[in-house]
Amino acid sequence: MIPGFTYCYLCKGCKGAYCENSWLSMSSFGDCITVFSDGEARLEGVDVRYPRASPDVGKCSHCGVIQWFGNHVRVACLPPGETPSSAADVNAERLVEMVGLTCEDGVAALRKASARSGRRQRILHRLIWQGLCDQMDLPGEPSVPAEPVVGVLRAQSDRLAVDGSDEHRLDAAEIMRNIGNFARCLALLKTEVAEGHRLRRDAIRDAARRGEQRRVVVMRF
Ligand SMILES: [Zn+2]
Repeated sequence: MIPGFTYCYLCKGCKGAYCENSWLSMSSFGDCITVFSDGEARLEGVDVRYPRASPDVGKCSHCGVIQWFGNHVRVACLPPGETPSSAADVNAERLVEMVGLTCEDGVAALRKASARSGRRQRILHRLIWQGLCDQMDLPGEPSVPAEPVVGVLRAQSDRLAVDGSDEHRLDAAEIMRNIGNFARCLALLKTEVAEGHRLRRDAIRDAARRGEQRRVVVMRF
């Protein structure tokens, strides 16, 4: 992993500056990758997740405005590894952070006109699902997700289930397991899948039979 330039942009809500690291090389040679039952892969030791928690949309830590990235005003480009020590360094009023959306943020964003495109809807569905799994990763008994979150995920699972591809059917089954509908999860897993999907299928099925809702590890390599 070789860091690239740090780019700083203006929040659309409060005009605070937020900075993002880029990577010159994402080579993971020698690093350990963990693949989870919800399809997420994580590189050990660094905060790199695929799919990323907020690849296209985030929420400002200062003003709380949820915003899509892509056409933000860039105010600075800093050498690799550098971060501004004050807002004056990047000619902004303040430094802010763009944080990932919670499930509830995702549901709120889905209701807005800015989520009209199919691509944005898919991103938000994924983030809502990921947010639920992140919440359940916290120590203690998993909290019951709020009904709007469960409703969105159940509908998404139904859509993925009719899609027909192995990956989407496993996604549909995993969503059902994550929201606690183990019977529906196991029913979706009855159809045979291609060899490359069997490890994940088995991990989801075993966890459903145990009545486990949290994401589980499929493999490490
Ligand atoms: Zn802001």
